[in-house]
Amino acid sequence: MVRAGRSGMMYDFYLYAGKESTIPAEYSHLSVSAQSVAYLCMELPKHEDKVVFFDNWFSTPNLIQYLKGIGIKAAGTIRPNRLHGCPVIPSKELKKKDRGSLDYRIDKNSALIVVKWLDNSIVHLVSNCFGIAPLTTIYRWCSKTKEKKNVACPYIVAAYNKCMGGVDLADMLIALYRTEVKTRRWYIKVFWHFVDVAKVNAWILYKRHYQQLGLPINKHQALAEFTVDISNALIQANKSKAIQGRGRPAKLSGIKQVQQRNRKKPVIPIPNNDIRYDHIGHWPKPQKDKKRCRLCQSYSRMMCAKCNVFLCLLANRNCYVDFHN
Ligand SMILES: [Zn+2]
Ligand SMILES: [Zn+2]
Repeated sequence: MVRAGRSGMMYDFYLYAGKESTIPAEYSHLSVSAQSVAYLCMELPKHEDKVVFFDNWFSTPNLIQYLKGIGIKAAGTIRPNRLHGCPVIPSKELKKKDRGSLDYRIDKNSALIVVKWLDNSIVHLVSNCFGIAPLTTIYRWCSKTKEKKNVACPYIVAAYNKCMGGVDLADMLIALYRTEVKTRRWYIKVFWHFVDVAKVNAWILYKRHYQQLGLPINKHQALAEFTVDISNALIQANKSKAIQGRGRPAKLSGIKQVQQRNRKKPVIPIPNNDIRYDHIGHWPKPQKDKKRCRLCQSYSRMMCAKCNVFLCLLANRNCYVDFHN
């Protein structure tokens, strides 16, 4: 069971173990599905402007009321058989009305709202923080008139549609480049799953920092490149010599690359930043031939044995140290 943000970042989880529940007894007054929501909200800051959304598998009026009691705003769709006879308009009558029609009831004691809204079919929602106002509109295909038209939409539905789906997004991102392990031991699979979770979370954080630094949007690494970068760094970590020419080359990063003037001679890619700056085993290796220094383009006979690049190592010009710091 997972709690994730709109961005797809996974914030909290617990392993669902069926009957052998690991959820503390303090939540036992709630239904089994509602318990998992309450448990995952335990660490959330209370009385803040944050809202928890969940779908009709989890929702019960008791859960919404419980969350209100501990200072957490919440909203979700709900199954009609869990409404304990809340006197909203019967479905038969609502279906006779125009699409976008709605009915709602508020429980003044618990400040809980139940909304019944007619979209393509009837939708029930429950919340402790949203209402129906302001009424917005939603663009929908009308099968009767064969054209798209605006349909009235209560605020709770608009908010739910906007914010729901973080867990699905997280699942999708994790599944894209999942670490495949062939083993019968379930806990090994669980371990690698959380390595993948950490990777996806790191990528989302990296994208966020990229935006915060005002760097051009959509120029950041895609998740695939990010994954390859981490893999290369992990393969080469703590090794004295970088592995070159195997698989996909590490992404050229860091200082602006020397322009590739002669296309017949491919430029050896600079290793991943994690390796370039790891200060492990970057021994200078004098060469017979001289080649262009990677930083200043002067000729040099000195090569870094780990990075496989030529660098000046002179009294008046130490590109070797500059490159690695
Ligand atoms: Zn140089
Ligand atoms: Zn080096």
